[in-house]
Amino acid sequence: MNGRAQRAFDVLVVGAGPVGAAAALMLARKQWRVAVVERQDLTQLRAPREDASYDLRVSAISPASRALLARLGVWAALPSERVCPYREMRVWHQGGRAEMHFDSALLAAPDLGSIVENRLLQSAMLRQLSALPGVELITGSALAALERQEERVRLTTVDGETLSARLLIAADGRGSAVREALDLPVLSGAYRQRAIVVNVDTERPHRHTAWQRFLQTGPLAFLPLANGQSSIVWSADEPRADELMALDDDAFRQALGAAFEHRLGAVTGCSERAAFELSWHAAERWLDHRVLLIGDAAHGVHPLAGQGVNLGFGDVALLDALLDAGEGPWQRRQLRRFERQRKAETFAATQLFSALKWVYGQPHPALALLRDAGMALVDRQTLIKRWIVDNALRNLA
Ligand SMILES: Cc1cc2nc3c(=O)[nH]c(=O)nc-3n(C[C@H](O)[C@H](O)[C@H](O)COP(=O)(O)OP(=O)(O)OC[C@H]3O[C@@H](n4cnc5c(N)ncnc54)[C@H](O)[C@@H]3O)c2cc1C
Repeated sequence: MNGRAQRAFDVLVVGAGPVGAAAALMLARKQWRVAVVERQDLTQLRAPREDASYDLRVSAISPASRALLARLGVWAALPSERVCPYREMRVWHQGGRAEMHFDSALLAAPDLGSIVENRLLQSAMLRQLSALPGVELITGSALAALERQEERVRLTTVDGETLSARLLIAADGRGSAVREALDLPVLSGAYRQRAIVVNVDTERPHRHTAWQRFLQTGPLAFLPLANGQSSIVWSADEPRADELMALDDDAFRQALGAAFEHRLGAVTGCSERAAFELSWHAAERWLDHRVLLIGDAAHGVHPLAGQGVNLGFGDVALLDALLDAGEGPWQRRQLRRFERQRKAETFAATQLFSALKWVYGQPHPALALLRDAGMALVDRQTLIKRWIVDNALRNLA
């Protein structure tokens, strides 16, 4: 401790990732005094930056998440020329002939979602946060200690600053330090896959379509970017991912084109690559005396459906709705209700994506036939397709 005075807030948010930033914005717009503590130094992101190259990390933002971001003033702060709506989705698999085609026209919706670079999203959120009077944004400083009393929770940062509030929201991601400090139980499993991300140029245009091919070694997605490139998320079993990461650019482009069955012609250019370990997790308790987990701190899914951050935004949207009716964001009854509802919804999504990953990973020819039959059936049934699209637009809620 360096002797600095303790500062009091209504809510403390640990983590200014997309979900923590959205939660802080939502609370500050309801006039609560919020302090956000973020480990990374985000100074560069606070100012809009002209950067021609596209971020390797992008998110497929669902219409429901977009509506939340619009309410928070974030959507309008994004550079619209870099946001790419996708209107169609095509899904097919290795070893079969069937294909599923989803079209936003099915629901008379303008699109199925938008692809946004994570860097731009986070920058827009931080700028909005900095502009709100009730928000204290402390970046480049992590949580060091937590202490809970009957009425308040007290956080000390690694710089020795002490902050207190009636509620602490942990949005500090997969390895949540808050979750670990409180020893909250979590179910988890490794997929033994890595997701390779890379931006590529293709011979033919992406047609504002999100493409996904399920390979036996993992799903491969091509997501459309506003500059005409495609953002790739190629999830592959670890040995295959290691092989792919070791290839030179020419060999990688060829391997990628072949895995995608050259649906957009040859892959003619590619950026650098990055790889992420894949696992799932689900916290068994989200609420524990004056502490609430949200976002990846509470749940983590396979990226095959592009739903991770959307599920986190779904957490914030429900908090937004429940807290409207309450007297303060620390009301136990509302928070319990939130925990019950979101825990069930996100756990169902976690299991669904794990099951899909398993079903499409099985090499047995009988399963390939079954997958084919299932996909062909879904593709023929407008009602089923409409139901799937409708649920996807609403974040599987
Ligand atoms: C390859 C890949 C592709 C993906 N694609 C999509 C997609 O298309 N659509 C989608 O919806 N989701 C996608 N996801 C998932 C998505 O990235 C995550 O679900 C999302 O980032 C979770 O947001 P969050 O704010 O909860 O956590 P994070 O983004 O992890 O943010 C946590 C924040 O907390 C900070 N922090 C951590 N510890 C501390 C500490 N001790 N003190 C202070 N601060 C701390 C971190 O610095 C970070 O800023 C993808 C994931 C991967 C791996």
